Amino acid sequence: MSLPKMPPLLHRWLRVPDTVTRLSIGVSALVLLCLMTIDSLFGLVADPAARESARRMAVSQTLADQLMISATRLGEREVIEMLNAFRRRETQARAIALRSADGEVPAASGLMRPRGDAQVMSLDVPVMLQGRPWGALELQWTPIPGESWPGRLWTLPTLWPLLAFVGIAALLRLYLGRVLRQLDPDAAVPDRVRSAYDTLTEGVLILDDQGRILLMNKAVGELTGRRDVHLGRQLEEHGWFADEVRFDDGQVPWQMTLDDNTVVERRRMTIGQGERQRIVLVTCSPVGEAGRRRGLSGCLVVLADQTSLERAHDQIARAMRDLQSAHEQIRLKNEELFRLATRDPMTGCLNRRAFFEQAGALKERCNLEGRPVAAVMCDIDHFKSFNDRYGHAIGDEVIKAVAGIYNGSAREADLVCRYGGEEFCVLLPDCEEEVALAIADTLRRLVQDTAGDGIDHDPRLTVTSSFGVAVTRSTRVGLEVLIDQADQALYQSKRNGRNRCTLHEEKVAEPA
Ligand code: GH3
Ligand code: MG
Ligand code: MG
Repeated sequence: MSLPKMPPLLHRWLRVPDTVTRLSIGVSALVLLCLMTIDSLFGLVADPAARESARRMAVSQTLADQLMISATRLGEREVIEMLNAFRRRETQARAIALRSADGEVPAASGLMRPRGDAQVMSLDVPVMLQGRPWGALELQWTPIPGESWPGRLWTLPTLWPLLAFVGIAALLRLYLGRVLRQLDPDAAVPDRVRSAYDTLTEGVLILDDQGRILLMNKAVGELTGRRDVHLGRQLEEHGWFADEVRFDDGQVPWQMTLDDNTVVERRRMTIGQGERQRIVLVTCSPVGEAGRRRGLSGCLVVLADQTSLERAHDQIARAMRDLQSAHEQIRLKNEELFRLATRDPMTGCLNRRAFFEQAGALKERCNLEGRPVAAVMCDIDHFKSFNDRYGHAIGDEVIKAVAGIYNGSAREADLVCRYGGEEFCVLLPDCEEEVALAIADTLRRLVQDTAGDGIDHDPRLTVTSSFGVAVTRSTRVGLEVLIDQADQALYQSKRNGRNRCTLHEEKVAEPA
């Protein structure tokens, strides 16, 4: 059979008080015992009720004595007057009666209430006459406050032990709570346990349920770079903590463990900044006996230094980035080198070496497949006159403008080469004579109509160019021969007045 479960709040209140509270209660009880002993011996605390009671007894006794002395001399009226005078002096005396042993009342003052009435406090003083008991003087007083129960409960003499106990215990709890916090809880941990913790490279902290440090090893000081990490205080209470410690998610991990009783793993924490910054992974687990506050009594915090690992990681990442960038630069340089090696820098056209390499292979492939290949030789007309009239810079502009037209008009498979100073050779695969001639003529017209537009000169220059075209389907006609044939056709164009295109015609052997 299991006991019914207590509600959590009740459970919290009924839990065993902590050591400091138990210590305070014990010491308070001891002090109280001493005080009560002193009080009983020397009457530390005044008791006004007892004092008043004793005084009433004394004045009653004095009145009885006076009556005994003067009774034989006084008549009844004088005795009654004496009693009245006494009552006037002692306002708390409500009634007085002189009663003889046989029950007669020769003198009385005030209205006597029945015996045992709770409204009055009765006091009987024996009266002696000539050495023999005569009767009694009965006095009825108003009750003394605090003399009777339960009114007596609220008087100082009854309450002071309780008040003193609570006061001393509370003060002691406050004082010891503060003082014991400053003491070294580490002293409670055996040396061999502490030195075992100190051998760990990770920082280890044990916190109580308030997050105060109960134990820590040497590595904590090394990791934080602080010698002033105090036992008995929270890490967050240290002045440097707020300035130097940062968490990636902004939450203090051991606080999460203490609040939720959960394990918090590998939270990234940075301590300090710049070169001296340390990067730490924090793991927190709840520790302690079941049944304590919210089921735990503290938290174990492990700090693993990641600084060198993260720095090495950063260095590798940086090296990788540098390598990639160097690789990209090499690739660009190679492209540039290839371009420089194969292209004419001024016009971007293929240079002669690259042209012959590519054109030879292209022509061979086409002709092997039975397809025609055309070579077009182009030469700017009277180019020398541009140099002579406008200078070499303008001459260069003319060459660039014409080359731009040839490059811009070329199909992907075509090859455009700067063959000489102002001479170009264009190789057109898959072009019949008519097509090649038409292309040449298109280029001619484009040069004539547009080349002058690209040159920054006023008035606008007119540029023309002459073309020679040769076509072959045969692998037996070599590239040089084909180009030579185109050159001959170009010569023809020059001779016939320039700014024209001429197709090289194969000389058919005349029949004999
Ligand atoms: P034609 O109509 O007969 O071709 O006459 P032309 O003046 O064009 O022919 P010629 O061969 O007599 O002149 C070519 C000139 O081109 C000779 C040379 O000084 C000049 N030249 C060659 N390369 C360059 C160059 O890169 N820039 C400049 N500005 N001039 C060049
Ligand atoms: Mg020329
Ligand atoms: Mg020329």
